Amino acid sequence: MPPAAARPRSLTILGIPYDANSSFLRGPAKAPPLIRKALASDSSNSWSESGVNLGAVSVVQDAGDLALPSDCGAAFTAIESAVDEQLARGTRLMVLGGDHSITFPVVRAFGKRFPDLTVLHFDAHPDLYDEFDGNRFSHACPFARIMESGAAKRLVQVGIRTLNAHQRAQAERFGVNLIEMRHGPSLQRAELRGPLYVSFDLDVLDPAFAEGVSHWEPGGLSVREAIELIQSIEPPVVGADIVEYNPERDASGRTAMVCAKLCKELAAKLLA
Ligand code: MN
Ligand code: MN
Repeated sequence: MPPAAARPRSLTILGIPYDANSSFLRGPAKAPPLIRKALASDSSNSWSESGVNLGAVSVVQDAGDLALPSDCGAAFTAIESAVDEQLARGTRLMVLGGDHSITFPVVRAFGKRFPDLTVLHFDAHPDLYDEFDGNRFSHACPFARIMESGAAKRLVQVGIRTLNAHQRAQAERFGVNLIEMRHGPSLQRAELRGPLYVSFDLDVLDPAFAEGVSHWEPGGLSVREAIELIQSIEPPVVGADIVEYNPERDASGRTAMVCAKLCKELAAKLLA
């Protein structure tokens, strides 16, 4: 018998099929069922590299996909209360998006339960616009809303390679710990403290490794580098999302397998 401390916690997977705040292409709303299909594919198995088995039904539950209205205000309210409901059960949560706008209502629910929350954000883009194309809830804005509302105490961004003057000023305003791609892939300067929420925008990866995203931004992380960064996280991870997978640009299904791989490695951290 393993000692009680080694007993895994419970993890719930929740799909949020919403992409109405995408500024360039739609498609991420179709992602959650395809990521699940990749997770279940016979081409691989359900184990993380560190030895956590996502296939163990006693450990991982699937809460399915939320049925959401297209109206942003109503959708965000529904997302926040669904996440709230899961967290009230004491489970750790793995969210499958959706475009990146969904991270604001998700983190708002986490912030109520974890007042010292740090968000570790992987992305090519800082998503700190005050507004984008007249939309304050665009997928280009969620981290401005998160920091303004105090939903997270600290924000650490990794892989960023599209900063302009406005977003650099916003990063300064919110005291963001920026680890730009040009600084190299490392969390050494991040000074991470828990509890942590990890938000993973798939376009942090180089498009050579993940074609299935709306915004191809060359010069990004390899899949291996992303996995190493995830595995190097030390503080407790209480929640995570994988967002911006766009199946419309993934004819081969290869990017779905990348999502499944990242999901397993993040889940291992959530269950640690
Ligand atoms: Mn993003
Ligand atoms: Mn992005």
